[in-house]
Amino acid sequence: MKDDLQPQGIYVAGRWRLTGDLAENRDPSRPEALVSLQSLATTCDLDEAVAAARPAGAAWAALPPQARFAVLDAAGTEILARTDEIGRLLSREEGKILPEAVGEAERAGMIFKFMAGEAMRTGGELHPSLRPGTSVEVTREPVGVVGIITPWNYPIAIPAWKIAPALAFGNAVIFKPAELVPACAVLLTEILERAGLPPGTLSLLPGPGAEIGAAIAAHPGVDAVSFTGSAATGRGVIATAAARGARVQAEMGGKNPFVVLEDADLPLAAEAIASGSYLSTGQRCTASSRIIVVEAVHDALVEALAKKVSALRCGPADDAASSYGPVVDARQLASNRAHVRGALEEGAELVTASAEDQGLFMQPVLLAGTTNAMRINREEVFGPVAAVIPAADYDEALALANDTSFGLSAGIATRSMTRAQHFRRHVRAGMVMVNGPTAGVDFHVPFGGTRGSSYGPREQGTHAREFFTQVKTAYISPVG
Ligand code: NAD
Repeated sequence: MKDDLQPQGIYVAGRWRLTGDLAENRDPSRPEALVSLQSLATTCDLDEAVAAARPAGAAWAALPPQARFAVLDAAGTEILARTDEIGRLLSREEGKILPEAVGEAERAGMIFKFMAGEAMRTGGELHPSLRPGTSVEVTREPVGVVGIITPWNYPIAIPAWKIAPALAFGNAVIFKPAELVPACAVLLTEILERAGLPPGTLSLLPGPGAEIGAAIAAHPGVDAVSFTGSAATGRGVIATAAARGARVQAEMGGKNPFVVLEDADLPLAAEAIASGSYLSTGQRCTASSRIIVVEAVHDALVEALAKKVSALRCGPADDAASSYGPVVDARQLASNRAHVRGALEEGAELVTASAEDQGLFMQPVLLAGTTNAMRINREEVFGPVAAVIPAADYDEALALANDTSFGLSAGIATRSMTRAQHFRRHVRAGMVMVNGPTAGVDFHVPFGGTRGSSYGPREQGTHAREFFTQVKTAYISPVG
């Protein structure tokens, strides 16, 4: 198997090349199967990529916007034409079931299409000045060289939602994908190369986060860093980049609450929780993990949810009978299990009959009788695990929802629009879902959170420009 695979290179200054170190990339559904062999970049490669990015970025930014539109639009067209094939690769590499993986590829294609349009919509403002005869022009310029560091759980959508706006607004990109998903990153880079991206405008540097990711955050030639990943890593990236005055944006974890009130449509609430907590193996920053239920409907909701959860099947990503795929690797599985064990030791009750897990396939875990103080409700698990927390009433439910260091997504199930609006205003989260799952968001509107979940401007939609451009204010006084 290994002999059949051609190693995949790194991409620097418009050239693919193999390096000395090769990493094995394995299929979580069948860990004995290799997906790819990946060359790893060094910090010398980073220096070379940054040196190439500076002039390439300046030339890219100087092109008419239609040139940037054309490249991004062509990349989007190719992705959308190949979603089945890309989905299959993604599914083998990350373990997402095929429909989810194809959906993610579609989303990436649409993001490139949307951001192609953004390249044409940079606009500007014209103001009269306080000074007679002078006008004030406000325009947006690229930031320069942008470092992009991405996690493994959305191997094509997250790179797309950072790379597409970075390029649309005329920046050059240094892209460091997560160690577990280099094949999707290679594929995306090849597509951008074929779409006509000039050499040096994008470099791909797969490699260990502690080495290449940390070096990108610290590099004096990288003007801005856009990171998505865990809170612990993100805080380090923020500190390193900010200490040298670089612009930094970080999207990190969540501990997302889903509140169920006494007037909720319980079957709908159970459906939203089952989808938000377990699909994609719970490996979503927006996954519902704290299920806060008012006492009046607590037992009925737990019963309805237990039924839904026991119908879920964890299995191989390419098996149509699987509701969700395997955990991404053995380390994540051990961490998920340790969280569940810890919760049981702290007094949580296991609602789902836990079938024996096999390989990396982890059966869904629903816990009840938990308190918000338990570790299971303080730390992100990032697996197919949800915990029910009882609350006396709406006020207590809202207080519990807000009692967390995170603030990404929050959901509520209620028929009362008054309660829903109150929740929308008072829950401390960047995204609020009324009668729908906390996970699964649109690509054309802002994405991000508050407190420990996010740092810096929002991603996606038209708001992406806030991070990937800087504003220039010019006072123009014509003479003669
Ligand atoms: P991670 O923090 O381990 O890694 C993220 C990226 O950072 C990887 O590319 C990794 O190589 C790199 N990295 C590791 N150490 C580094 C260092 N010292 N300096 C710089 N870069 C370094 O996260 P992960 O395990 O890949 O992804 C899972 C996490 O991502 C979860 O916590 C999840 O909530 C979060 N996530 C957040 C969002 C969001 O938008 N809020 C979206 C998806 C995933």
